[in-house]
Amino acid sequence: MAETVHTDTVVVGLGAMGSQALWQLARRGVPAVGVEQFAPGHDRGSSHGESRIIRTAYVEGAEYVPFVRAAWEHWADLERASGQDLLLRTGTLMAGAPGSGAVTGALTAAAHHGLAHEHLSPEQARARFPHHRFAAGEEAVVEEEGGVLLPEAAIGTAVRLAREAGARVLTEAPVTRVVPDAERPSVWVGGTEIRARRVVVTAGSWLPRALPGLPDLGIRVERRVLGWFPVTGDPAAHSGGPVFARDEADGTLWYGFPSLDGRTVKIGVHAEAPGSRFAGAQWGEPVDPDEGPRAPDAEDAARLGRLAERLAGVGTEPERMAACMYTMTPDEHFLIGHRRELPGLVLAGGFSGHGFKFASAVGAALADLAQHGRTDLPIAMFDPHRWD
Ligand SMILES: Cc1cc2nc3c(=O)[nH]c(=O)nc-3n(C[C@H](O)[C@H](O)[C@H](O)COP(=O)(O)OP(=O)(O)OC[C@H]3O[C@@H](n4cnc5c(N)ncnc54)[C@H](O)[C@@H]3O)c2cc1C
Repeated sequence: MAETVHTDTVVVGLGAMGSQALWQLARRGVPAVGVEQFAPGHDRGSSHGESRIIRTAYVEGAEYVPFVRAAWEHWADLERASGQDLLLRTGTLMAGAPGSGAVTGALTAAAHHGLAHEHLSPEQARARFPHHRFAAGEEAVVEEEGGVLLPEAAIGTAVRLAREAGARVLTEAPVTRVVPDAERPSVWVGGTEIRARRVVVTAGSWLPRALPGLPDLGIRVERRVLGWFPVTGDPAAHSGGPVFARDEADGTLWYGFPSLDGRTVKIGVHAEAPGSRFAGAQWGEPVDPDEGPRAPDAEDAARLGRLAERLAGVGTEPERMAACMYTMTPDEHFLIGHRRELPGLVLAGGFSGHGFKFASAVGAALADLAQHGRTDLPIAMFDPHRWD
């Protein structure tokens, strides 16, 4: 027999965004239930692999800067509330040819918002970062407001605090149906119906599947591969440096982290241009989220190895690799807010490979939207109706 549970707000999907939303609701005293199909911090979505970059002089658009500043504050708040270190401040290095997207994007955002930064000539960049092999003429933008977020720990911590603040958390519990309704939307988990005042849907790569009533917004799920490469030179050179993003002359935008274990550095590719010398035939490969991305293979190892060559004192054979999913929107900006076909629901998705750093602020915005229908956080550019 079907059981019915009543609450104020249900959060569907406790990944990067949903875990933060649930904590924000619970700490405000809102009765809330969080539902996750796997275990929080799992490796089958978009939020695994030990590290995520946070940076402030935002290459993807200066208009993101107020939101990333809010995210810094909310990450600090989560660290204070939990007593956990979740964000390592390392600074950021963006490098590329003069006029490349990484360099001009960072400079534009920094100028627009008066952000502290340094613009290094090719000679200065080589002298400051000898563990990077820069191509002739590559320059750099360096900022202190950058670092490494620990994704699995951040999700686990937010879920723990949410529970401690009174939220109910259901794990290994796939939501089979979300029913929109302006007054009393509901969510089905097996034979249980959870009726609420609001439902927040943060289902990551599964968002269109969780919401059959969502019109086709052009959301695509793509495979990406991360590689951990052994440090063969001085470990200190790779341990203390900034997170980085490098824009190659052929259109490859790749990124990496200082070594967190003293033995390996992690790198990945964010974007490639067709025909780039680093590109593989597998670039942008579509993924069915229920099947998950194909396991990393020798071709992935070879293409990431070609990028590892651009670092000094790092081997070119990965010690290990991991595959992950990007959920892309057509303009690569996020979806946060309401859709008129889905009354009673608040949705957040389409984080297009650069959303993790914002999760703390997205959680606060979702809690505001669920509680009050509006937020003061700067999310207007993520309106899910912007293409209408
Ligand atoms: C390789 C890689 C590198 C990245 N690097 C960076 C970076 O350096 N900096 C950065 O800011 N961003 C980065 N990103 C992007 C960032 O990680 C994602 O934008 C972010 O994690 C997306 O969070 P999410 O909550 O939307 O999805 P997820 O964290 O995947 O969460 C969605 C959750 O919903 C659950 N779910 C789905 N359907 C159901 C259902 N029916 N019932 C119950 N639960 C359900 C899923 O199991 C999952 O736990 C990277 C992404 C990848 C893949």
